[in-house]
Amino acid sequence: DIHKEIEELKSLIRDVPDFPKPGIVFKDITPLLHKPWAFQKVIDYIGNRYIGAGVEIVAGIESRGFILASALAYKIGAGLAIIRKPGKLPYKTVSASYTLEYGQDTIEIHEDAITKGTKVVLIDDVLATGGTMSAAIDLVEKLGGNIVSVDFLLELTFLGGRKRILEKGYPVFSLIKF
Ligand code: AMP
Repeated sequence: DIHKEIEELKSLIRDVPDFPKPGIVFKDITPLLHKPWAFQKVIDYIGNRYIGAGVEIVAGIESRGFILASALAYKIGAGLAIIRKPGKLPYKTVSASYTLEYGQDTIEIHEDAITKGTKVVLIDDVLATGGTMSAAIDLVEKLGGNIVSVDFLLELTFLGGRKRILEKGYPVFSLIKF
């Protein structure tokens, strides 16, 4: 059954304490990606929700978001858009900044990656505070994209990121919750 399968997938997420800095418990998805059936299950679970939905673009956030976004785009027959750290994209970009615990960060997308009215699904590996995804939403909105859903492999529910995204007016989906 589905709950048992989700629990099995959850058991393949590895906690790495104090990475990348003291006090952070890093959720490492690589053990899950290493298992053929697990990676396939994840993409099937997420992708089957979009059968007949007419999603045109899957947008992934650097860098672990790319892994999920590309497989999902392939599965549902959508195009892929990549949202990157500053200075990585070669063509003209639009950018959005967001605040971190200390300081600021910026992400960018090619200005022609999404056209007005395009149906877009956004995806990343982990929903923590939701700051990164909020900025990604801002980028897609700037380009006039029509956001169908905001998806994550896993969600750290105690950090409240879901609320932050729901407040922007979009549905949030996460396969695994901690
Ligand atoms: P946030 O903007 O706080 O929602 O953080 C989300 C981004 O940081 C995502 O791109 C995640 O990949 C990464 N991230 C944040 N916290 C963790 C964590 N505990 N384990 C793994 N990745 C994380």
